[in-house]
Amino acid sequence: MSVNNLKKQLFGTNGVRGVIGESMTPELVMKIGLSLGAMRKGTIAVGMDTRTSGPALISALKSGLLSSGCNVVDVGILPTPALQYIVKNHYDAGAMITASHNPPEYNGVKIIDADGTEMDDEETIKLENILFSKSFEIKDWENVGSEIFAYEMINEYTDGIISKFTPVSKEMTIAVDPGSGPACLTTAKILSKLGCRVHTINGICDGTFPGRLPEPSLEGLKGLAELVVSTNAEFGVAHDGDADRAVFIDDTGNYLEENEEFALMQRYLCKNTKEGVVVTPVSTSNIVEEIACQTNCRVVYTKVGSIYVARKMLELEAKGENVLFGGEGNGGLIFPKHQYCRDGGMSAAAMLALISEEGKKLSELRKELPERYMLRDKIYAENPAQIISNIRTKLTDENLDLTDGIRINREDKWALLRPSGTEPFMRLFVEAKNKELAESFRDEIKRQI
Ligand code: MG
Repeated sequence: MSVNNLKKQLFGTNGVRGVIGESMTPELVMKIGLSLGAMRKGTIAVGMDTRTSGPALISALKSGLLSSGCNVVDVGILPTPALQYIVKNHYDAGAMITASHNPPEYNGVKIIDADGTEMDDEETIKLENILFSKSFEIKDWENVGSEIFAYEMINEYTDGIISKFTPVSKEMTIAVDPGSGPACLTTAKILSKLGCRVHTINGICDGTFPGRLPEPSLEGLKGLAELVVSTNAEFGVAHDGDADRAVFIDDTGNYLEENEEFALMQRYLCKNTKEGVVVTPVSTSNIVEEIACQTNCRVVYTKVGSIYVARKMLELEAKGENVLFGGEGNGGLIFPKHQYCRDGGMSAAAMLALISEEGKKLSELRKELPERYMLRDKIYAENPAQIISNIRTKLTDENLDLTDGIRINREDKWALLRPSGTEPFMRLFVEAKNKELAESFRDEIKRQI
């Protein structure tokens, strides 16, 4: 059986994650280090988010890597995209200790390849096979790796973003909520250097997350919304626990839905080009198609997961296509002129440039987008893959897209049903012109199941 037909067992879409002391242990992380070291020779950069378990796990990771013979550069606390940027510029691979948006009791590992993208499925399966079969090697005293610390390298990332923009001509006020995560060290700095007056909430690194949880939810961002309104800010920006995603609060204190965020950025980046490509998963709003019609760009769809988007962007770029933008409708935006991965700090800087150049308030800009309503649902099922295959055979008269699970496209609405990779349920996305139409379409799909 080829590796393509095998399934990842340990790693999910974005690395391996678990509760500390239960499925996530220093022993497991050390074995991940040993296995990665067996696959990638040379120098590996390691970093972590602000979780309390970070120091324990990064020590285990380094122990594994050094024992395997790799050299290690420890770049300390930083956003995942900062590590990706540093790896792309200097190193043979990277590993990030993070559980992204998960609650404080979780932690995990994301593996970064030499081009700065997350390790693909095929390579991850190889890594798992080495780990499960323990076919790694522990080197002797003459061949163990050496370690250096380079906490200042985070500046290369912030400078890299700042250099891609012109500072704003008139001072703007921006509110920032890094959620006590690693963006405490980056986003406010980037925006200040670009000429903004920055107010911060949850701005001190703290793995107990005293202000809000690492997922930037509507509920958790109430403080940021109040800060935006009370300081008369142009917008508020918040990150998830490793700052690869950015979500926004408009100037009136309202949450900007992430598909609207994607569409506004798409329109801004594509409006002045003759032709180009935008890449996004099949779960993103149809607004992207409407923006594509307005701006001469073409949309290419992928499976759900930022890694599939990034790889598709690289593939199209290699074929000579003009790849302008990519990402997901969850606040994970990819700017190919910067790097091929989601980047929250870059998203914040790009939103500043957008507002500054469009000369309009964010609350006004979002009103220019077509109205759409998307709902997301979870359906519990013992065997989701089987159910989805059964539904597929029933829906022969429909316009179906099988890129990921099953997407039913109709005139003015669509629904996507896909199995969860790790748990016994299916995810359902439904989008229509308004809430009532979306709910009735959802009920129709549930009856089919
Ligand atoms: Mg994340």
